[in-house]
Amino acid sequence: MMNKTPFQAESQRLLEMMIHSIYSQKEIFLRELISNASDAIDKLYYKTLTEGGRSFNREDYYITVSVDKDTRTLRVTDTGIGMTKEELESNLGVIAQSGSLAFKRDNETSDEHDIIGQFGVGFYSAFMIADEVVVTTKALGSEEAYRWESTGADGYTISPADKASVGTEIVLKVKPNSEEQEYDEYLDEYRLRAIIKKYSDFIRYPIKMNVTSSRPKEGAEGEYEEYQEEQTINSMVPIWRKNKSELSDEDYNNFYMEKHYGFDTPLQHMHISVDGAVRYNAILYIPEKTPYDYYTKEYEKGLALYSSGVLIMDKCADLLPDYYSFVKGMVDSEDLSLNISREILQHDKQLSLIAKNINSKITSQLQRMLKDERDKYETFYKAFGTQLKYGVYSDYGSHKDVLQDLLLFYSSTQKQLVTLDEYVSRMPEEQKYIYYATGASYDRIEKLPQTELVAEKGYEILYLIEDIDEFAIKMLMNYKEKEFRSVSSGDLGIEPDAQESTTEETQENEALLAEMKKLLEGKVKDVRVSKRLRNHPVCLTADGELTIEMEKVLRSMPNSQNVEAEKVLEINTHHDVFRSLKAAFDQDRDKLALYTGLLYNQALLIEGLPIQDPVDFTNDIFKVMV
Ligand code: ADP
Repeated sequence: MMNKTPFQAESQRLLEMMIHSIYSQKEIFLRELISNASDAIDKLYYKTLTEGGRSFNREDYYITVSVDKDTRTLRVTDTGIGMTKEELESNLGVIAQSGSLAFKRDNETSDEHDIIGQFGVGFYSAFMIADEVVVTTKALGSEEAYRWESTGADGYTISPADKASVGTEIVLKVKPNSEEQEYDEYLDEYRLRAIIKKYSDFIRYPIKMNVTSSRPKEGAEGEYEEYQEEQTINSMVPIWRKNKSELSDEDYNNFYMEKHYGFDTPLQHMHISVDGAVRYNAILYIPEKTPYDYYTKEYEKGLALYSSGVLIMDKCADLLPDYYSFVKGMVDSEDLSLNISREILQHDKQLSLIAKNINSKITSQLQRMLKDERDKYETFYKAFGTQLKYGVYSDYGSHKDVLQDLLLFYSSTQKQLVTLDEYVSRMPEEQKYIYYATGASYDRIEKLPQTELVAEKGYEILYLIEDIDEFAIKMLMNYKEKEFRSVSSGDLGIEPDAQESTTEETQENEALLAEMKKLLEGKVKDVRVSKRLRNHPVCLTADGELTIEMEKVLRSMPNSQNVEAEKVLEINTHHDVFRSLKAAFDQDRDKLALYTGLLYNQALLIEGLPIQDPVDFTNDIFKVMV
């Protein structure tokens, strides 16, 4: 007896998790096995087309499903590309890359991150209904066949086997019924036919099964006999060639799962048939959840590309702009030449026309969703809005016209996400700018002293909480001829009330301000009388283009340059604190230094910036207390 090779430790845990929890419905194991079989035939078909030498007779390529109730076995075979011993080892020996599980461990995953959906785990779903799985396979161009056997989490063995033809056979030993769960249904011909029809109807190769029927018995009037006959169960017409009116949401969702576009239920599907200067069919999906690796370098965008029904590329990146990289699905076109290599295909003129066309379809779909299905759009936006904002910022803002109307920001007055158009349409006549404030959270921004004047005027403020936000806003510059303005900026375009002329106050307090500036030498560029503060004594703002929030973002980046915003300490001259400052200036310069240091550090804290010396800061507070 051969020793079992254990699954890698993490694979083992995953397998258990998988068997017990991933799929709510056990029946999908068949969809997974059939999809793998279909992929294997696709691969072989692709090889014959690109490498030539062999001809591809469609009749030779099919999938079979058969059952034997006596031995409780279910068999799925294909005439696809098969697997070598090494491929068996690497494809079926390691369930998922340890990186994925490590990610799950390191990051407390929320519902938004559908980790499981990212694994190539389809094959293992067989263990939900089987207590033993035997895979016998012979790879294209190989003389030997191999058998992979496993009874679940304890490992697997691989040994030489006999198999005449190229392809793969998978035999499942269906679990015995238990008190909690019946497994007999997976040995039932009718049930299996229904499962195939439900999930795998559009598989493009015949799925054949022996079907029991009855017919009048010859020579025996009125009597019937049962007989078995091989039938093709699936309709085979690819879903994208079908008429939209024949298809239900369930059909689209099944196709999404069958093709492993994701394990979530797509938020929206688009079925596109274009027959003009370019001709193509496409089925596109907007997923509901952010893939766990979406905002990492590992994520690969792209659509599956078919040419006249044959898969050419799994992920054709050129079909999607980066800002729509979340879109999943496929494109099929007859106009792509098949003889050319993949490289050439990527620069195919037809392909770029299709890409352009798809791009505008996605845009109008998103616009429509925003207009007609706001809740759904917000779900989408929560998952992928950040990407749209990156899209505004990237490529020197060349996509901003397309994307600006798809953006949503939280509004101080509406207490919900709003579009820029909604904001502008609510602006009172005298309001000059579109105001925004940045911070770590809506709650924190709400309390920012910098917002006081604008808020008091009753103007709406957009709250920006993501790193990319202010960069995107700066790239937009304006919307419908209204400029964006940070509530921290020098000119807020708001006329101060007559009695509070800051110029006058600045003159009055010139010496004090100059003294404070000297005390904060090297820390701030200036100390000024604030126009924007109401109830708060102090705040930090920045002169110039680089804001404090942008400084924070840039500094947090790897290899960050030593960027620094030109900070200005603003003082509220109507606050009691200012009176103390004045008194200290007149009577006790040590006290003035103490107060100035404290105010500066408090302003840093409010901004979410680190204090240079926390011990000094707390010592200063003690001094005030005693
Ligand atoms: P996924 O299909 O998501 O990659 P699976 O666990 O279902 O993950 O399968 C792992 C790999 O095993 C497949 O990517 C494929 O390379 C290989 N494989 C599975 N079934 C077959 C098959 N019937 N014929 C050839 N290769 C297969």
